[in-house]
Amino acid sequence: AKEPARVLVTGAAGQIGYALVPMIARGVMLGADQPVILHLLDIPFAAEALNGVKMELIDAAFPLLKGVVATTDVVEACTGVNIAVMVGGFPRKEGMERKDVMSKNVSIYKSQASALEKYAAANCKVLVVANPANTNALILKEFAPSIPEKNISCLTRLDHNRALGQVSERLNVQVSDVKNVIIWGNHSSSQYPDVNHATVKTPSGEKPVRGLVADDAWLNGEFIATVQQRGAAIIKARKLSSALSAASSACDHIRDWVLGTPEGTWVSMGVYSDGSYNVPAGLIYSFPVTCCNGDWKIVQGLPIDEFSRKKLDATADELSEEKALAYTCIN
Ligand code: NDP
Repeated sequence: AKEPARVLVTGAAGQIGYALVPMIARGVMLGADQPVILHLLDIPFAAEALNGVKMELIDAAFPLLKGVVATTDVVEACTGVNIAVMVGGFPRKEGMERKDVMSKNVSIYKSQASALEKYAAANCKVLVVANPANTNALILKEFAPSIPEKNISCLTRLDHNRALGQVSERLNVQVSDVKNVIIWGNHSSSQYPDVNHATVKTPSGEKPVRGLVADDAWLNGEFIATVQQRGAAIIKARKLSSALSAASSACDHIRDWVLGTPEGTWVSMGVYSDGSYNVPAGLIYSFPVTCCNGDWKIVQGLPIDEFSRKKLDATADELSEEKALAYTCIN
């Protein structure tokens, strides 16, 4: 039998956490043959609720779940973890300036970075979900210099999955037959959902999405806007932000990273830019990646048209600004 993997979820008493932890305990993230020990962290204010989540995990009697560490102590939470999913963050409250929110998150991510660096298992993989996700991941990287940059990522898989969903709805095809959309850039409304390389499996072979949809106005307009603003649409409908889809996408992100992407398929991940596609090096930016043996690699050589170029640059500009703002909060 496999040794259990230790999976940290921060902000575990929150909405996404509540949807995420049962998925992990059922093997959705790491596979149905991989036992897990959950490490759940939250702040003292949420300690009682966190304990309630732990009670429910016990009550659910998940066969793969070999233990639950529920704590408000960052060091205890980070000790020995193989996977860290960072969902906890300071929410933007009404009337708060962007800089104030950034400042709160910089201090959270700074201290969690130090704890992960000192106490996590060697080769721990980190996924940041809490917003501003790309920049929180960058801060984490800066303050955990001994964690290789290839082990630090942020979530844009939800946006990627939303794009697959929109295409499948539009064409009335199975979502599992659509692949290779791309989310470029920031997990924010400046992201660029790109279908130029996406395909659909049909009885007569793989066909380009652009050809099948045959409506450039929709693809270049409403489609992009719908994916960019889907989070807000969910809040409007549910009076709460997306949680089940965020949790499910976080599982997809880690599963593909650890177990590999299928041949001929790429996914979107926010990763440390090496300057590919002329994206400034040193940003955490969402790229198309393939994964093999636990490592991701940016898909190279995709042609970028002028329309796309502008969008790649605009979201990079926003990330450079966020980075600059974050640095003014570091002291
Ligand atoms: P959620 O579980 O709904 O969201 C958690 C984080 O994920 C937020 O930053 C949220 O950003 C972000 N997020 C990223 N992508 C998405 C998406 N597609 N849909 C929704 N959210 C997304 O928040 P809760 O308030 O329910 O839970 C947060 C938990 O974090 C609480 O238990 C709280 O106690 C804890 N916390 C921990 C802190 C710490 O570690 N020091 C500090 C503050 C809170 P956005 O805000 O933009 O929606």
